[in-house]
Amino acid sequence: MSKKLLLKNAHIENIRNFDVYRKHGGYDAAEKALKMKPEEILEEVKTSGLRGRGGAGFPTGLKWSFIAKPEGVPRHLVVNADESEPGTFKDRYLMEYLPHLLIEGMLISSFCLGSNISYIYIRGEYSWIPDILEQAIAEAKNAGFLGKNILGTGFDLEIYVHRGAGAYICGEETALLESLEGKRGNPRLKPPFPAVKGVWERPTVVNNVESIAAVVPIINISGAEYAKIGVGKSTGTKLISACGNINKPGVYEIDMTITVEEFIYSDEYCGGIPNGKRLKACIPGGSSVPILPANLLLKTINGEPRYMNYESLADGGFTTGTMMGSGGFIVLDEDQSVVEHTLTLAKFYYHESCGQCTPCREGTAWMYKILENIRSGKGKLEDIDLLWDVQRKIEGNTICPLGDAAAWPVAAAIRHFRDEFEWYVKNPELSQKQNYGLANYADARIA
Ligand code: SF4
Repeated sequence: MSKKLLLKNAHIENIRNFDVYRKHGGYDAAEKALKMKPEEILEEVKTSGLRGRGGAGFPTGLKWSFIAKPEGVPRHLVVNADESEPGTFKDRYLMEYLPHLLIEGMLISSFCLGSNISYIYIRGEYSWIPDILEQAIAEAKNAGFLGKNILGTGFDLEIYVHRGAGAYICGEETALLESLEGKRGNPRLKPPFPAVKGVWERPTVVNNVESIAAVVPIINISGAEYAKIGVGKSTGTKLISACGNINKPGVYEIDMTITVEEFIYSDEYCGGIPNGKRLKACIPGGSSVPILPANLLLKTINGEPRYMNYESLADGGFTTGTMMGSGGFIVLDEDQSVVEHTLTLAKFYYHESCGQCTPCREGTAWMYKILENIRSGKGKLEDIDLLWDVQRKIEGNTICPLGDAAAWPVAAAIRHFRDEFEWYVKNPELSQKQNYGLANYADARIA
């Protein structure tokens, strides 16, 4: 049984309401934190080893320590709730069912960072959640946990919810800040980094919803105890949103010591693959991380079991490994076509490119067109090399990570499933009627 820190009270009826949340220990961490010095809170977060849960996995305490503190200039905390990565929906769950966990985490984090005005930037498609958050903010304010002179400490905090308009790129922190300022959400050139010049050119920390929510248990149990959960540099718990060909799609909290096999097949988590189908592949960290075939997903290239943590999933680099990313876990059974799947993702990134950088703007369009040709039986074998070449020219050559995010799925699909691309080219008539998965069953990569 995995240890639960974030979702331990998620099953309690009406836990969304302040009174119920408070009755079950809610805001105890905030009370404790407000009696500490900001430097002591920072030390706890550093000691916890918490890594950003949005995808990059950068140490949260270290990120906080970078915030500039020029005399007389306000600082801000901005919570990135623009959860738009296909396959990722764990922040939605937190905000929808445990809004006070986020508000409490924001109170502690804002106090630590010296932010008196903090923001939640939420994706436009989560149209019903801002009302839930604003209700929670009003309740917290009414109870004295937000507003002026919180609990008599002299600390003031206002939290505002800002609705995005449905652009994936606004999940990139500098695009998010541009959008928050009312401009088009184009990523900024870095440096300067947000910790020096963020929103309104003021020092700003941008953190994912889950990262900020995790600050609550860190203060409750201490950074040292939090660091004892998990393994290596994968400390604490991680929310995984699981979907695709599994019996029990949903949001799970894991302590990062379980194997990938256990996560997929155990009844506590995904409950296996429907209809007795076999596992073909998985994207374990949101649509931009490399897809892995089943044989490399369940075991590393050295034959060791693969674990659900940052280090184990990355074992082998991009050649035979992948990434933990945001924890958006997408499972493909043996009937699925990797080419079709990659085409869907390529179309998404082509649509979402902001267009500032030529490699991303043009490259995503070309990848989509080439893949569409291959999928529809109009491709040539040399198109597979062309596709490889285009993704290579995008990676590392753009202002923001969307370019990499578009290139990596294509690269991994060709790396591990080149024969499937070739099948579409060599079987143009067959590919009109059925996909590779439905036409081909014998495959050593399938588990
Ligand atoms: Fe825009 Fe793509 Fe460049 Fe990012 S990489 S700034 S999304 S064009």
